[in-house]
Amino acid sequence: MRICIVGGGTAGWMAANLFAHHWTDKPIEIVLVESPEVGIVGVGEGSTPTLKRFFEMLGIAESDWMSRCNATYKVNIKFAGWSPQSGIDDYSHPFISQLDTFSQGAFFMNCRTRRLGLATHTSPADFLLNGVLAQQNKGPITPDHFPFRMEYGYHFDSYLLGDFLKEHGKKLGVIHKQAFISGIEKQLNGDIKHLLCADGERISAELFIDCSGFSSLLMQQQLGVKFKSYHNNLFNDAAVVMPSTISSAIPVETTATALSNGWCWKIPLTNRFGNGYVYSSDFINSEQAETELRQHLNMMENEHNCRHLKMKVGCLETHWQNNCVGLGLAQGFIEPLEATALHLVQICIEMFIDDFSAGNFTQQFQAQYNQKVTERFERVRDYIVAHYKINTRNDSEYWRANRNNPHLSESLIQLLEVWYRREDLEQEIKRQNLESHFGTVSWHCLLAGYGAFPPIADKQPGTGDLYVDQKIKSFLHGCSLNFSAHQHNLERL
Ligand SMILES: Cc1cc2nc3c(=O)[nH]c(=O)nc-3n(C[C@H](O)[C@H](O)[C@H](O)COP(=O)(O)OP(=O)(O)OC[C@H]3O[C@@H](n4cnc5c(N)ncnc54)[C@H](O)[C@@H]3O)c2cc1C
Repeated sequence: MRICIVGGGTAGWMAANLFAHHWTDKPIEIVLVESPEVGIVGVGEGSTPTLKRFFEMLGIAESDWMSRCNATYKVNIKFAGWSPQSGIDDYSHPFISQLDTFSQGAFFMNCRTRRLGLATHTSPADFLLNGVLAQQNKGPITPDHFPFRMEYGYHFDSYLLGDFLKEHGKKLGVIHKQAFISGIEKQLNGDIKHLLCADGERISAELFIDCSGFSSLLMQQQLGVKFKSYHNNLFNDAAVVMPSTISSAIPVETTATALSNGWCWKIPLTNRFGNGYVYSSDFINSEQAETELRQHLNMMENEHNCRHLKMKVGCLETHWQNNCVGLGLAQGFIEPLEATALHLVQICIEMFIDDFSAGNFTQQFQAQYNQKVTERFERVRDYIVAHYKINTRNDSEYWRANRNNPHLSESLIQLLEVWYRREDLEQEIKRQNLESHFGTVSWHCLLAGYGAFPPIADKQPGTGDLYVDQKIKSFLHGCSLNFSAHQHNLERL
C-alpha cells in the first residue's frame, strides 16, 4: 500500500513520522510531496503537552531536538488585559499536572463560594503547580526522586522543527519528493487515482493525506468538500507578526495580551521572542494593526519587517472523504489563542491511525472518525469563544461585539448557564463528556480568570481557610523547591 501526503509543513511531517513509526512492520510505503515554490506558513510556535507525547512516541529525546529548534519549555499561558472591569490584570492557564489533583479541589471550592458572593481567593496560578512555576520562572524538569509526572509543552521555531521532522521522517523511510501538484485524476467512485505534477509526473497511491495548508488543495479544491466557517463565532481572520529581542531571563510561558481589536502573542525562543497581533479585519485594517503591534512592542522604527497573514477560521464538514484525509490547515484552523492547532493535528493523526488500522486499512470507520474529529474541533472552538464572550473590555466596538455575540453552541450555553446559576460545573463537564477537550480545571481557570462572578455580598461570614488556603500555598511552594530555573533546564540540553 502506498500513502501519499501532500504538503511538507509541520502537519505533513508529523503525519509522515507517526505513520512510518506505527506501521513500520506493515508493507506500507509513505511518500511526502511538497512544493518549495509554495513554501510553508512558518508560524505556529507554541504547543500543548501533546507534543511532548509526540516526541516520546517517536523516541526522540529533548536534547536531540530542542536545541536544534531554538526551543524553550512552556508551562502556562498568561492572559493579560482581557477583563479590566473585573479588576484582574492578568491570569494564568497552566498545563494541568498530576500533582494538581491535590490542590484543584480547593480551587473548585473557592470558585463555588465566590459564585455565592463570598470574597474567596480564586487566582488559578495559586492552586496549580505550573502556575507557581511560571510565577517563579522555573522550568518543569523534575529531579529523579520527584514522584509526580509534570505536563508541559514547548515553544519552538517552526521552520527548524519542520527541518528536524523532515530529517527524522526520511530516516524512518519516508520518501520525499518536490513537485508542484496542479491537479488530480479520479476513479469512477470519486477516489483520487493519482496526483498530476506540473512537471508531468503522476503520483498514484491508495490513500492521500491533504496537508497543503490553507489552500486545502485536495479536500476542498479537488474533492469539493465544504468548509464550515467559524467566522460567526470567532471574528479574528488576520495576523501581523514580528520578532523582538529575547530577554535575559527566558520566560517559561506564552503571554497573550488583549489589544484594541484582538490580542498579541509573545512566545519566547532561545534566540528571540516571536510576537503576533491576531485581529479581525472587520474592525481594523492591516496598516493600523501593524502600527498598534509596533507600539505595543515599543518598536516603532522599521528595523524589523512585519509579516502579514490571513487566516481561514473554521473546518471541513468532512475530514475523511473517499480515499483522502485532511490534516492541519488544509483541514481547518481555530485561531491560535490556546495554541491548539498542532495539538489537533496530532490527535487527528492518532485517531486516524487507530481507525484505519482497526478497519484493516479500509474506509470502514470513516463515519466514526469524521464524527469524532468534528466534535473535537467544535469543543476546542467553544473554549476559545468563551474567552471572547466573557471579556470585560470596553475600549472598542470589537470587544463589545464579541461580548454581545449570540452565536454560541448549545454546549457552551449550557456550561455558562451552569456556572452563572451556581450549579456544579464539574458534573456538567462530565455530563457533556468534555474532559478530554478542555477539562474542569481549564474551565475554572478561564471563568475565574475573567472574574465571571456576581458582586461580593455585603455580609461576609468572617475569614478562614476559604479565603486563602494557606495549606495549598505552602504545599505548592514546597513542591516548587524541587524545580530549578528555566534557564538551568535549557542549559542541561
Ligand atoms: C497566525 C497563526 C498563528 C499560529 N500559531 C500557532 C500556535 O501557536 N500553535 C500551533 O499549534 N499552531 C499555530 N498555528 C497553526 C500552525 O501554523 C499550523 O497548524 C502548522 O504550521 C501546520 O501547517 P500545515 O502544515 O497545515 O500547512 P503549511 O505550513 O502551510 O504547509 C503547507 C504545505 O503544502 C505544500 N503545498 C501547498 N500547495 C501545494 C501544491 N500545489 N503542490 C505541492 N505542495 C503544495 C506547501 O509546499 C507546504 O509544504 C498558527 C497559524 C497561524 C496562521
